[in-house]
Amino acid sequence: MTQPNFDLDKIKFSVDEGTFKRAVGLYENGRVTNFHDNGFTYTATVLGTRPYQVIVSHRGYDRGQCNCYLGQRDTLCKHMVATAIYAIKKGKTLSSQDKKQITSPSCGCKLGQLNDSDLIQIKKKITQAMRYIKPYRGPSKTWFAYQDSLYEGCCRLSFLVSQLPVSQQTAKLLVNILIRLDNKIVGSVDDSDGTVGGFIEETVDVLIQFAKLDPSCVVAFKKLQDRQTCFGWQEPLLQLS
Ligand SMILES: [Zn+2]
Repeated sequence: MTQPNFDLDKIKFSVDEGTFKRAVGLYENGRVTNFHDNGFTYTATVLGTRPYQVIVSHRGYDRGQCNCYLGQRDTLCKHMVATAIYAIKKGKTLSSQDKKQITSPSCGCKLGQLNDSDLIQIKKKITQAMRYIKPYRGPSKTWFAYQDSLYEGCCRLSFLVSQLPVSQQTAKLLVNILIRLDNKIVGSVDDSDGTVGGFIEETVDVLIQFAKLDPSCVVAFKKLQDRQTCFGWQEPLLQLS
């Protein structure tokens, strides 16, 4: 069987929580039946309210079709996502890690620093996630796909932030992420839906928790002094430093 061009992370970081949860439910309850790999597409009959015929492209979990109400309106549905999960896991059990979706950043609350090689790794992954938060160049029909890309970038960043130990070193890393995102919003990223702004606010909350756990983190906030930001998000941090 051909490996799909997408993995579980791709799905977890880009599908909304409700759709993902329902798709996992379908998969775990054996509702994906008649699964076939046809070389370029996967097909399956997904047993929902009634049986639905689903096609998913190898190239993307969100490319394909389904004859349910949403699918007929070109909206990604749980049946397509369930079929995509099947293409990846091939009927194997999903671990709790597999099913855990992280859509906002949180403080891991464990004190510590990253070693040199972990620091390089995480910086690389941050840069990769940042690529999803890209300039909007139109046309307007790409607007929703564009917002989805911002969402995926923020989910990927949320996952990385939530893994970090708490120290001045990692606080600096977070401050740098915020400055990079702020530059993007001031520049050509169109964040009208507030996805990136929301992520910035939540990460500021994570940094406030960092400072409570390790007061030396406030040194990292000095970089934000005398800086104009898109909506003054740095204020609560400067009050601590
Ligand atoms: Zn469907």
